[in-house]
Amino acid sequence: MIPRLSELEPATATTRGFLAELARAGFTGDLADDLATRVVGATDNSIYQILPQAIVYPRSREDVVLLMRTAAEPRFGKLTLTARGGGTGTNGQALTSGIVVDLGRHMTQILERDGDRIDVEPGVVLDQLNAHLAPSGVFFAPNLSPSSRATLGGMISTDASGQGSRVYGKTSQHVAALEVVLVDGSVLVTRPMPREEVLALPAWDDSTASLADRLPRAVLELAERVHGDFVEKLPRLHRFLTGYNVERVWDPDSETLDLKWLVTGAEGTLGIVTRASLRVVPIPSARRLAVLEFPSFEAALASAETVIAQDPSSIETVDDRVMDLARRDVIFPSVAAYLPVRPDPFPKTAAINLVEFEGNDLAGVEERMASLVAACERHRGEPGWPMAWSVAENETDRKALWQLRAKGVGLLGNTQGRRKPVPFVEDTVVPPEKLSSYVAELRAILDAEGLVYGMFGHVDVGCLHVRPALDLRDPEDEKRVRRISDQVAALCTKYGGVIWGEHGKGFRSEYSPRHFGELFVHVEAIKTLFDPGERLNPGKIATPTGKRRHLATIDQPTRGQQDRQIERAAQDAFTLAIDCNGNGQCYDWDPDHVMCPSSKVTRDRIHTPKGRAGVMREWLRQLSNVGAVPAMMKPSGPLAAALSTPLRAVHSLGKVLGRFDYSHEVNRAMAGCLACKACATQCPVKVDVPAFRSHFLEGYHTRYLRPLRDHLVGGLESALAFMAVAPWFFNFFLRSTIFQRIFALLSGLVDTPPLASRSLGTHLRERGLGVADPTALESSASEKTRVVIVQDAFTSFYEPRIVLAVRDLLERLGCDVHVARYLPSGKGLHVKGFLRRFEKRARATAATLAKYAASGATLVAIEPAVALAFRDEYRHTLGKDLDFEIVLVQELLARIVKEQPGRKSDARPRYRLFGHCTEKTLAPASQRQWAQVFEHFGLDLELVATGCCGMSGAFGHERVHRDESKGIWDLSWGRWLGDDPSRILATGYSCRSQAHRFGGLSPLHPAEVLLAHLDR
Ligand SMILES: Cc1cc2nc3c(=O)[nH]c(=O)nc-3n(C[C@H](O)[C@H](O)[C@H](O)COP(=O)(O)OP(=O)(O)OC[C@H]3O[C@@H](n4cnc5c(N)ncnc54)[C@H](O)[C@@H]3O)c2cc1C
Ligand code: SF4
Ligand code: SF4
Repeated sequence: MIPRLSELEPATATTRGFLAELARAGFTGDLADDLATRVVGATDNSIYQILPQAIVYPRSREDVVLLMRTAAEPRFGKLTLTARGGGTGTNGQALTSGIVVDLGRHMTQILERDGDRIDVEPGVVLDQLNAHLAPSGVFFAPNLSPSSRATLGGMISTDASGQGSRVYGKTSQHVAALEVVLVDGSVLVTRPMPREEVLALPAWDDSTASLADRLPRAVLELAERVHGDFVEKLPRLHRFLTGYNVERVWDPDSETLDLKWLVTGAEGTLGIVTRASLRVVPIPSARRLAVLEFPSFEAALASAETVIAQDPSSIETVDDRVMDLARRDVIFPSVAAYLPVRPDPFPKTAAINLVEFEGNDLAGVEERMASLVAACERHRGEPGWPMAWSVAENETDRKALWQLRAKGVGLLGNTQGRRKPVPFVEDTVVPPEKLSSYVAELRAILDAEGLVYGMFGHVDVGCLHVRPALDLRDPEDEKRVRRISDQVAALCTKYGGVIWGEHGKGFRSEYSPRHFGELFVHVEAIKTLFDPGERLNPGKIATPTGKRRHLATIDQPTRGQQDRQIERAAQDAFTLAIDCNGNGQCYDWDPDHVMCPSSKVTRDRIHTPKGRAGVMREWLRQLSNVGAVPAMMKPSGPLAAALSTPLRAVHSLGKVLGRFDYSHEVNRAMAGCLACKACATQCPVKVDVPAFRSHFLEGYHTRYLRPLRDHLVGGLESALAFMAVAPWFFNFFLRSTIFQRIFALLSGLVDTPPLASRSLGTHLRERGLGVADPTALESSASEKTRVVIVQDAFTSFYEPRIVLAVRDLLERLGCDVHVARYLPSGKGLHVKGFLRRFEKRARATAATLAKYAASGATLVAIEPAVALAFRDEYRHTLGKDLDFEIVLVQELLARIVKEQPGRKSDARPRYRLFGHCTEKTLAPASQRQWAQVFEHFGLDLELVATGCCGMSGAFGHERVHRDESKGIWDLSWGRWLGDDPSRILATGYSCRSQAHRFGGLSPLHPAEVLLAHLDR
């Protein structure tokens, strides 16, 4: 039995008082100081882990004003506030031991558009904005690879830029105006202000005026004085000044002051941005992308000058480490044609440059691309030129190649071994022409430490991304962070560059004085004007005058320091949770992306794979501290086993009475997971929440009783077989509203569907058929392809017509088809964490299925969730003992039709396929296989790109999750049903059931349509 986990670092009394005061004063957002929420807010994508006191989620500017005003009260004098957007910072920009102000949950509205300007709230995600703008033919040009989750507030505050920055520049260049709440609660709205107008504003020492009114004049006085020094003394680098841009805040030519130049890139240290007015530009109508292949990374970098001469909009380099990892990722099939492995003696492609041209004149863009290709041809084999190249053939391929580049960092996280690539010197910038020599010296530093690393970057602006692989749980590796950072910072200075070329400063602010030299006092003066009391994201960028000793350093508490407290064996057993590198790809904005439905509907970071991995790591840490990690615990003796239920009853009573146990918070995070498995493949590190969630549930319920619904879900597959003997009897109850209400009350399960009035067994018997005996099958011989249909509880007992359709279809296609005995798969047991029972069930079922397979038959399963459980959960549980393969219907059909002549259809009816999300993620080719099969039959099939339907097995039937289930349906399938629901096909039982429940639809299985078509 696991112990109660009472290790709680509670929020201070001042923080609790602050939250109470906010609630009292009418704060409309959410307030949280529970440990799990704080643990999730303790990390971003950096190496650091710092537990905040609390997290507040404002809904409006008024909420932020209230926050600032309340914090300004003397009794809360020591509280600090740190804004957070998407939390994708790589240097702890949004981490704090104070209070986090999370703008990404509620302040996500896109506001009005006026010509080339659009107003947004700070929590709007970049992809969200661009999806909104796309129909109007315009976009917000600054780009960055985590565009699916980074917010505009975060981009503005780090002055983000990325691919395409050579043409479009940085975020600050596209900001028209900002609304910023200052530390005294006053609201500053930035705009270019003529000098006279500024001089008419209140003077700095006018104590009756607000900070917002007094600032412009004070800044003007400073900027006028020092502007010349900044121009003269700082190197002219494309990406030098992020934040506190004292040089640009004052434009002596137009004699205007624009405070946006101070706030952009300020990392929330000067105020909190609550609204931004952004400039949008036309989407180029023509884009062409080339992939240039090089024998080494250095050769790719050395090509910078020759390729820049062709004036492309982007040149991005990716090295062989990233490409090798991409080869094992779901993304690879879509870009494989452009990254061929050529036969010897052709040198291995060790780096690629993605070179893009864009414009509004297609002929012009084509001409420039043709000229690049011709130049490559002319110079083939010469230094600075590629050894091979190709041009993306269509828009889909172009996007897929950019996606590969965007995934680069995440993919690196999938490196094998305990050392993982980590960001701390990841975005250095030097003049592009010096990049190649700089990289040689950088390599020497990393090689001297014996490290491996992957590299990629924006060659066109001299920005290099490198993540050396370290195991920060090892104190020796932790020391390397300091050693390497110091050397790299010095190297950047030597080459006239900066260590923070792209991602902002965060805890690297200690290097600022070195780069600014004597000018840094003016930067400090700005902080003094805005935030003399160091209340806003303290220590970052700059400290007030005279407080330099408070400037943030890179020596902060790291994740490694936490993780090394987890027992070594548990670290190895739970790598799926430990390896999450926090890049946030699972907090995807796009409602049609499969990752991660629970996060989309709740917008609560605890309900993301990252959130769940984070709370799990803390759980393992606390359990390790008391030597009680469940997977490592010895089985209990007979006495303890006998006492288990009464003891669990007592502990459960404590839970009802509100006795604190951190495990309850973890349970809350895990309970929201639909077990859809999207994370297991879509996360670049393959963080598999359902896998570690099962272990958690098993451990948790050694201490606390399980709800009845867990037992019902765990035993459903066996119960259905029993109920199917007399479906009329059970359906009498299942169709009764009163019974449903009582059942829901007692079991916590709602909308339980009636069984098919005749089970599969009955249908087969009526046709004079039966289920196949594995041993009898062995002795039978047939020329035809032998197929055994593996039954599952859902199609066999709820929709036997589908099993019959698959059977008949396969038979008509020439197979010798048999139906296996019904065998529960144990999926429900696994989902609910009955792991010992699951293993027993898996062994028994696998043994019988292996016998069917031994007859030479291909095993095919109809229900994707069950088929993939055989491949995934069974593989993990049984390992080498698993000795059969199982295929999905479409995998088998695609194989069969390949050997047969295609069928013509004049009418070519069009269907729309809504795939099961587990199938889409664990068998990524499966959707295209359906399309191939339909094509073979002369039918059109549209693959509808939706996320999860919200049902996911029993999740949607659990009363506590019904609203979320509906919310997910509305976000995903509900938006895509279209006008003709009769043409909708669905592969999953859960999905069909959900479509019936919330859409009033009865989608067919694709096999039914194919069979009907054969009959025509
Ligand atoms: C895989 C990966 C790739 C990346 N690639 C790029 C890249 O190509 N280009 C690039 O520029 N960056 C890149 N980054 C870094 C990061 O994505 C950017 O810095 C991004 O702009 C941060 O946005 P966010 O919403 O996640 O902000 P957060 O990380 O949450 O916050 C960043 C900073 O902004 C402040 N902040 C957030 N919102 C506000 C607000 N409303 N008011 C005031 N301050 C606020 C925070 O206090 C913090 O200091 C990458 C990061 C990752 C993980
Ligand atoms: S779970 Fe995966 S996608 Fe999410 S932050 Fe962790 S590593 Fe990234
Ligand atoms: S299984 Fe699905 S719902 Fe659960 S964490 Fe992974 S993606 Fe989210």
